[in-house]
Amino acid sequence: MALERTFSIIKPDATARNLTGKVIAKLEDAGLRVVAQKRVKWSKADAEKFYAVHSARPFYNDLVAFMTSGPIVLQVLEGENAIAKNREVMGATDPAKADSGTIRKEFAENIERNSVHGSDSAENAAAEIALCFRLEEIVG
Ligand code: GDP
Repeated sequence: MALERTFSIIKPDATARNLTGKVIAKLEDAGLRVVAQKRVKWSKADAEKFYAVHSARPFYNDLVAFMTSGPIVLQVLEGENAIAKNREVMGATDPAKADSGTIRKEFAENIERNSVHGSDSAENAAAEIALCFRLEEIVG
């Protein structure tokens, strides 16, 4: 096992329902440590840049509108196998298909308003962390 860092977002549907602490508790219970965190509101340009990989998908414009609709919490999470562990505790993209006990099963509203983002590979984790945090903002 390797100590890894991954990038996480608590999305606007969760901040709107005051679920930030409950989401963080799930992450910590899974053995992940929050080593950087900030609450921000993204501009359209911020969201378009972050989700550029999805720009050809039919839901891209809706996703950008959603991610700019309210505050979000950006995080760097650290732990053994943090990337896979975070994906596991998040649950499937569609909450109807998510395993019980996962963040999305318990908190997500639907496939778009699904409460959290988590990097899906080491390469994307490094790129997403670098896009959103300065090195000195990450304190492990
Ligand atoms: P993730 O890695 O599980 O977050 O899923 P994806 O990378 O496939 O999609 C990114 C985000 O786009 C998801 O977390 C959802 O917020 C949104 N999304 C994914 N699929 C759909 C869809 O079919 N419809 C809509 N409206 N949004 C979607």
